[in-house]
Amino acid sequence: MNFVLHGSSVSGGITIGHAHLVSTARLEVAHYQIPEESVEAEIARFDAAIALATEGLAALGSHVPVDAPAEFAAFLNLHRMILDDSSLSHAPRALIREQRCNAEWALVQQMDKLVAQFEEIEDPYLRERKADIGQVVERVLNALIGGQTLAEPHASDEKNLIVVAHDLSPADMLLFKGHHFGGFVTDVGGVTSHTAILARSLSIPAIVGLHQARQTIRENELLIVDGVQGVVVVDPDPVVLAEYQLRQSQLELERRKLQRLKSTPAATLDAVAVELFANIELPQDVPQALAAGAEGIGLFRSEFLFMNRKDLPTEDEQFEAYREVARAMNGRVVVLRTLDIGADKTLSGNGAVRPNPAMGLRAIRFCLSEPQMFLVQLRAILRASDFGRVRILLPMVAHAQEIEQALALLKQAKQQLDEKGEPYDHSIEVGGMIEIPAAALALPMFIRRLNFLSIGTNDLIQYTLAIDRTDDAVAHLYDPLHPAVLHLVSHSIRTATRAGVPIAVCGEMAGDLQLTRLLLGIGLRNFSMHPAQLLAIKERILRTNLNEVRPLAQRVLRSADPRRTRELLARLNA
Ligand code: PEP
Ligand code: MG
Repeated sequence: MNFVLHGSSVSGGITIGHAHLVSTARLEVAHYQIPEESVEAEIARFDAAIALATEGLAALGSHVPVDAPAEFAAFLNLHRMILDDSSLSHAPRALIREQRCNAEWALVQQMDKLVAQFEEIEDPYLRERKADIGQVVERVLNALIGGQTLAEPHASDEKNLIVVAHDLSPADMLLFKGHHFGGFVTDVGGVTSHTAILARSLSIPAIVGLHQARQTIRENELLIVDGVQGVVVVDPDPVVLAEYQLRQSQLELERRKLQRLKSTPAATLDAVAVELFANIELPQDVPQALAAGAEGIGLFRSEFLFMNRKDLPTEDEQFEAYREVARAMNGRVVVLRTLDIGADKTLSGNGAVRPNPAMGLRAIRFCLSEPQMFLVQLRAILRASDFGRVRILLPMVAHAQEIEQALALLKQAKQQLDEKGEPYDHSIEVGGMIEIPAAALALPMFIRRLNFLSIGTNDLIQYTLAIDRTDDAVAHLYDPLHPAVLHLVSHSIRTATRAGVPIAVCGEMAGDLQLTRLLLGIGLRNFSMHPAQLLAIKERILRTNLNEVRPLAQRVLRSADPRRTRELLARLNA
């Protein structure tokens, strides 16, 4: 049946391919085929995860506080029983063998079966035990994901597959990074969630917030994902299909044309130079940044090195990853953001859910609460600074003492390296992210203590408008053009520029073509974005006359009427 679903586009382009559904379980997991010869290894991986989860439960059992409620021991026993039961600890092995699927998928399929059986039970207490099955499965999945990488699926099949999920976590998305799927669509998720950001970094069309996709699309059904309009056409008729094939080749042509701008310096028509940097998540993203002609890395989200593994990366491991980026950028600036874990980006095994994770122990707050871990990262960054132009960026700073504590730890990390005679850049620059309204409003406090600033508009909007960036229920209220947001952004740019402190925007606003002229007009000269967006933004800059856009940009800033704001923006972009 031919029908259309509407959502929010997180990554442009058009893809045509077949639906590949991922689990309906609360824990969405990747689904991929295991080559025949790797089936036994996959079963061994599953067994190891069961053993690890069992150990975890045993360890919990031996540390039950004396004053813990009696239910706690009962709950642990129940979870141990569920885990011991062959329907969970053995049945998935057969599925892996029969279907040649990955262990996570086999486990979740088996869980769905068990949950369906529990739903039939009359006794409400027993029926509710299905939640415990989910929790036990979650424990095994965490053990599976920790330290594992996806087995190589058949890359040729992947290109024509479109992943359809209810939801995907940033950690799931990270696993997909090593693959070549044709596109992603999900029922939930905000356009600036980290899942969406990762989807964008894969440079394939992706749409979130489709609500019914997972329920209404069938496995292998033909789909058109129109990442330009945020639309999924399910089972298109031949005329629609032909139309989209045409559009697809036009887009490809445009993409190739843009490639010619790779080495053209970014400057406005009236010769004002603009720096265009790239955001990356992993060292393997660097080639894409270079291919887009990025002048530097404006944001290396180092936390992705810490995800999907059960232990923390060692100092040497981190050093090697940072050095790889520094070397590959060959003398160009690399802004390395220190660990921004928390909210939707979690460490495996650190799963205690806090009431308000986005406002909790996230980013610099988490690092300062774990100084030993932070010192390891700081030493690794410092060591890498000997191999390129590395800078340190502190996420989510709001208080002067957070900067002072971070700087004190940096000093300590330097002393530790001095004692070992390890070389590093002694005058390494340290910057701060402006992503909490308080930071934007108290900018002098940051300017005085830091060498540069970078505005994280994704969080700045989230915290200014009190909108959870991962929640599609409030996605329509996520508005970069809200006067309060524009005021904070322009105030930050103006104040920092006057003080002679470099300031960039590294949030998604920097890669939004609709906002390029507005940002130029309010004084931004350094944009950092996904490599895939960079050349289109450059083309817009090359066609911009700053003298013309400045007064219009000021009018947008002064506008108190959203409709008027949009009219002015349309004039700016005409
Ligand atoms: C931001 O908040 O705008 C930002 C760049 O950081 P992240 O998206 O990783 O939170
Ligand atoms: Mg942020």
